[in-house]
Amino acid sequence: MEVITVVGSGLIGRSWAMVFASGGYTVKIYDNQPGQSAKAITEIRKQLEELEEAHMLRGQLKASQQLNLISSHDDLAQALEGAFFVQECVFEQLEVKQSIFQDLERLVGNNVILSSSTSCLVPSSVFSKVHNKSRCLVSHPVNPPYYVKLVELVPHPETVMAVMDAAYALMTKVGQVPVRLKREIDGFAVNRVQAAIISESWRLVKDDVISVKDIDLVMSEGLGMRYAFIGPMETIHLNAPEGMEDYMKRYGEGITRLLNSFGPTPDFSGEEAKSVISEMLELIPNSQQHLSARKERRDLLLMSLAKLKKDH
Ligand code: NAD
Repeated sequence: MEVITVVGSGLIGRSWAMVFASGGYTVKIYDNQPGQSAKAITEIRKQLEELEEAHMLRGQLKASQQLNLISSHDDLAQALEGAFFVQECVFEQLEVKQSIFQDLERLVGNNVILSSSTSCLVPSSVFSKVHNKSRCLVSHPVNPPYYVKLVELVPHPETVMAVMDAAYALMTKVGQVPVRLKREIDGFAVNRVQAAIISESWRLVKDDVISVKDIDLVMSEGLGMRYAFIGPMETIHLNAPEGMEDYMKRYGEGITRLLNSFGPTPDFSGEEAKSVISEMLELIPNSQQHLSARKERRDLLLMSLAKLKKDH
């Protein structure tokens, strides 16, 4: 019986629990809000049953078998018993994360891997209060991890290679797609690339070059079509008769010219923000009803895309 402890049972904690159980691991969920991890199990049961019905359940086990692997705990020490890997999924607040990792270090053996789901905090901040940082790393998922399988593995400067390798092997075994960052950097890779896209999209809208609706179509009906299967590096390698070097000879100068014409970094506030936001609200009002319907649509589409990717 190989045990993984998930600490924090919100959106991401529940998803990690489902991912790890799909790989046959025993998953113990802890949340510091009494009753919260039990509620998470009820939610997970519902989701696993729906996934089974939709033939989208991951792994070799039935929904009921996966559910049997997951237990809820209001006591941290009990939740950590037997664990070889701990995935932290608490609020994205530095002090909360630092403090839970101090508790975790106190309660587990020296060889247990401590992994954080943080989106925005670098490992040297998150683990600054841990004594043995060699077994710490960030495993940053993309929401929703059940369908979007990428996980960024980010080392603390003191993390040993064996820990990175073990996390890589675990993520692969449970069907995620891990990538390794060779060192920590603000935003890791996903949020840095995303920020570049948001930034130029925002500038094109606020400079009145294109509408909010149309810049989103540029991604969803254009660039995004291929990016679901091949990344920007392979894209350019395939887009010139003789590959990447040829591409850069032909288009490198043009790309540099475009990049030099990009405006300053937006600060996303003031009058300019008001006008971009109001254009968005005309398309999708920010009532819970509208937002939930769009999120549901997004997740259904991602589920279909995940199905398609599985077959290719
Ligand atoms: P959430 O608010 O849905 O859940 C957080 C859970 O942690 C809550 O159930 C809360 O009760 C619990 N919690 C808070 N403090 C705790 C403590 N000291 N001990 C135990 N449990 C505690 O948050 P989320 O969206 O699931 O995000 C969790 C982490 O995952 C964050 O670091 C976030 O940045 C990261 N993340 C989120 C997303 C996303 O899209 N939501 C994507 C990638 C990574």
